[in-house]
Amino acid sequence: MTVRYRIAVSEADAHLYEVQVTIDEPDASGARIAMPAWIPGSYLIRDYSRNVVSIRAEADGVGVALEKLDKRTWRAAPVSRPLTITAEIFAWDESVRGAHLDRRHAYFNGTCVFPVVIGRETEPCELEVVRPDAGYARGWRVATAMRRKHAEPYGFGTYEAASYEELIDHPFEIGELTIGEFDAGGVPHAIAIRGRVEADMGRLCRDLEQLCTTQLGFLGRPDDLDRYLFLLNAPASGYGGLEHRWSSSLVTSRDNLPRRGQGRVDENYRTFLGLASHEYFHLWNVKRIRPQVFASSDLAEEAYTELLWVFEGITSYYDDLLLLRSGLITADDYFELLGRTITRVQRGAGRSRQSVADSSFDAWIKFYKPDANASNAIVSYYAKGALIALCLDLKLRVETDGRVSLDDVMHACWERYGQSGEGMPERGFEAIAAEVSGLDLDDFFDATVRGTGELPLETLLAQHGVVLNRRRPATLTDRGGKAGGEEAPLAVRLGATLVRSNDVSEFVAVDNGGPAERAGVAPGDQAVALAGLRLDADNVDRRLRHLAPGDSMALHVFRDDELLALEIEFDEAREDVAWLAPDDAAGDDAKARRGAWLEQHNDGGDEAAESRDARQSG
Ligand code: ZN
Repeated sequence: MTVRYRIAVSEADAHLYEVQVTIDEPDASGARIAMPAWIPGSYLIRDYSRNVVSIRAEADGVGVALEKLDKRTWRAAPVSRPLTITAEIFAWDESVRGAHLDRRHAYFNGTCVFPVVIGRETEPCELEVVRPDAGYARGWRVATAMRRKHAEPYGFGTYEAASYEELIDHPFEIGELTIGEFDAGGVPHAIAIRGRVEADMGRLCRDLEQLCTTQLGFLGRPDDLDRYLFLLNAPASGYGGLEHRWSSSLVTSRDNLPRRGQGRVDENYRTFLGLASHEYFHLWNVKRIRPQVFASSDLAEEAYTELLWVFEGITSYYDDLLLLRSGLITADDYFELLGRTITRVQRGAGRSRQSVADSSFDAWIKFYKPDANASNAIVSYYAKGALIALCLDLKLRVETDGRVSLDDVMHACWERYGQSGEGMPERGFEAIAAEVSGLDLDDFFDATVRGTGELPLETLLAQHGVVLNRRRPATLTDRGGKAGGEEAPLAVRLGATLVRSNDVSEFVAVDNGGPAERAGVAPGDQAVALAGLRLDADNVDRRLRHLAPGDSMALHVFRDDELLALEIEFDEAREDVAWLAPDDAAGDDAKARRGAWLEQHNDGGDEAAESRDARQSG
């Protein structure tokens, strides 16, 4: 039996949706409904029920009592007629995990607005999306990958989903949209952009087509992938994404979109393409190949897994690699991106305190709740996970004489868990990697996934004809990836991050054991002066540039409104900035491995290269 939902704008200026759910034959003991506590893909308890500002139930126009059972669950008094529950839901979270509503647009994730009917999770759902009659909504269109039932393309009307799980896996963006459509691998794709954009939509669609075609050629088109939609919010600044089975929600600055007449992919546009590549790869890795614990979660409480490094780390490895393989970026670009990831991981002392397995497991209370001590205590399962994937890929290529790579392991994961829908057990990825390669990988996974030691990056990259170089930072915000510029690197380190907000510069993070911490600086301290001269986030590099290790001087900070006079002694700057370069002196074996790693496709490589050539000449 179908569960019927309806969503309408209640008051756009108060940011309120009116949501109804109608249950035709409610449970004899009283229907129970509940709001999810979290949204798949984002591992934090968000308690979406907190945005329910009013709720009532009725049957045949007569009120029915609703009892609240816990923070997210309600039970209606038993009735034998169709029961309708109506809720007003506050929507003022513009992130990809939220719901947002104003005169400009309506955006929502189903987790934020649609309660589940307990016991009816697997029944089909119907959703009526009501057109607001206010003048501001005259030009609004509806973008979603949910299947239309009675609605024109991009129109208001009725949509349908096979189950509650599918219902909440289709975000909606409703407003004045810029829409581009393209075909990739025989599947219709679209991108719907909200915000005042002046992007070259032709270029954008061509590049996305190239990217999606490459990815579809990598693991193969999932049987149920018959459409795909990128929803993009392009404000002045912001960055984020959330994956879904047939779509993704992206936020990126409008400056990251290609402009008319733009030549090669620049750093801004590369950032957008990397985000799109990341979310698209999730369509296989985490939406279809997924951990067992997610497959059985009812979104009521945390679902613990040590595998987020597989789903986010390996996705982070392939997002850039597939940009390279699709011809959208160059090998130099790719080396720059890898160098930045290595730098990011290298900088944080948290990597020696927390493993990626623990970071995955504790994502709910640590990675998603970062505080001032985060860089000392937490390792990113995205960034370090991507480097573990790199190490594993290179190790497999060396130790099997090029017979097996991470590509083959991903193919096997796709066949075993993706196509069957069976959830991946906690050691499932490691078992498949060992099985496909015939290698004993226990020590490797113990050390890299469950350990906190350094990764064998230098050796593995050298075996692939790539040199991993390290240097001191040129500025405190040096992200790495490139050889140093003209300016001499800093000779000393501060051991703290200084950020300007609202005209004051604050120490937002202080490195354990570093000069700032030894001087007594605490997170939240406001920078005042170094050696009697004003110190702020904009001049800190200039202030440090002429110092030498061992120099000691007065440092003044405000903690709350108390002026503290501290003494800081500077250390030698660390060589913690990484950059990669091809090694021209490498042996033929290493060069051949490099070629296979960076250019080889398992499927369709030549075809993709040919179509790329055709596009460039045409
Ligand atoms: Zn991701």
